[in-house]
Amino acid sequence: MRLLTSIADMRAFSQQARAAGRSLGLVPTMGSLHEGHLSLVRQARRQCDAVVVSIFVNPTQFGPSEDFARYPRNLDRDLETLRPFRVDVVFAPDTAEMYPTMFETYVVPGEAAKPFEGASRPGHFRGVATVVLKLFNIVRPDIAYFGQKDFQQAHVIRRLIEDLNLETRLVICPIIREPDGLAKSSRNAYLNAEERQAATVLSRSLKRARELVHSGRSETADLLAEMRAVFAAEPRAQLEYAAIVDPLELESVERVFAGCVALVAARVGSTRLIDNLILASPGVSDDMLIQLALTARPITTPQARIPGLETDVLRLKIENCRDCAALSSIRLPPSEFLTKYVKRDYPDLNAVRVAIIGRDAPIHAANFLYHSPEASNRFVAALLELVGARNFDEFRRRFVLTDALRCHCTAPHVPEKALAHCARHLREELKLFPNLDTLIVLGEDACLQAQRHLLGRDDREIRPFNDLVKKEGWGEEEVRIAVLSDRPFRVFYCYHPTYGYTRSPSLAPLLR
Ligand code: AMP
Repeated sequence: MRLLTSIADMRAFSQQARAAGRSLGLVPTMGSLHEGHLSLVRQARRQCDAVVVSIFVNPTQFGPSEDFARYPRNLDRDLETLRPFRVDVVFAPDTAEMYPTMFETYVVPGEAAKPFEGASRPGHFRGVATVVLKLFNIVRPDIAYFGQKDFQQAHVIRRLIEDLNLETRLVICPIIREPDGLAKSSRNAYLNAEERQAATVLSRSLKRARELVHSGRSETADLLAEMRAVFAAEPRAQLEYAAIVDPLELESVERVFAGCVALVAARVGSTRLIDNLILASPGVSDDMLIQLALTARPITTPQARIPGLETDVLRLKIENCRDCAALSSIRLPPSEFLTKYVKRDYPDLNAVRVAIIGRDAPIHAANFLYHSPEASNRFVAALLELVGARNFDEFRRRFVLTDALRCHCTAPHVPEKALAHCARHLREELKLFPNLDTLIVLGEDACLQAQRHLLGRDDREIRPFNDLVKKEGWGEEEVRIAVLSDRPFRVFYCYHPTYGYTRSPSLAPLLR
């Protein structure tokens, strides 16, 4: 782990990394690191070849009466904290390095920065957007990691990336909390013992809103009244705002829909704290909640299949999705499949004759076939049955389940360019197995995609899934796949083993 303090050294490192083809992740922080920050570092480590953590208490995002001077700083301790995380560089410039005396150019965000934190802290997001753009220009990261904890900040940065055509992708990670619910924050250090206890009022009020939503209530006015009641019972805290907003526009909503965000800010003693919670049905994981917040819209037009999905923000996210930009629940970058699973599970690449193309059923990586092959979840069991393998060991001797096409890019409403992005990874994966002669395509989305991106068919040539699978529940074609080899391939189309209600019969007799 190298400590760099000059912009020139930082640039040199990132230029070298790029020249070596290494992907670069940036975790911007103001130091005084805690588990919240470390969760971002872990995610960056999972997804990028090289990880840079910046530590810079940015003066331009503090108002004149705010806590810039007393903000906790302890670089030595932060370096110790980061040491076990295999961070490549800690970039910790001083103020003069980032803001020399002649400095005079700022990034001024628009509507995204006006309500809530923007209203309470005039100029705050101007400072945030300016320093983030500077950091992006210095480090040139492929992916930057931010916390849901600062939900509006993430929203402002999304706009920054989109509006200024930045190439850095954004990943937002869930809020890390203390056991009693208080969101971890460097500012928690300001709280005395009594205030620390009182500070749980923020998360308690949010949880109250969530409980009500889970019990079927959706009128925002009622939910906010209940949240305020939680604050009213805590005299040490002064509520600054409580709101329930549409996550894409940050506008207050009258009725909650899945993905709406409850936001609170309050003073506890002299310490200003913020927190938020994404609302949805019970049992939805943190990852999924973030995804919902980034994609969900209320159903307003009866004809629309997925109303509101075609927003610019979402298009951008989906374009980038395969490497997880913003869709943080998808945790397997292609490099992980190529380097980790292929190396571990496929010592003889020549032996594999059949590639299975289609999205693994679980969205969470922990359930991905190659993560826990013997777990025998619904998808794995149905997949083994489909191909006639008794267990994973037997499976991997002849078959490979490609990791591509398993993200939301496979949904039919997703723009073409995003699908092409996925397909590129699919081709890379397939090329690793030189003796493939059979493809099994799982489900309707993959059927469309395989025809378009592997077989090179245009819209008129694409054969509809239902025509292909016919009454038997599966269909077969013999094809040439120019992008892979000049050998003929057999392609079997069948229902996805866990999506939908119809199952294909086992293909085992056909695969001998
Ligand atoms: P800060 O050092 O406060 O500027 O935070 C740096 C990054 O860490 C920001 O993207 C924050 O949203 C994120 N972060 C701070 N606290 C938490 C937390 N409790 N959980 C997850 N992320 C957090």
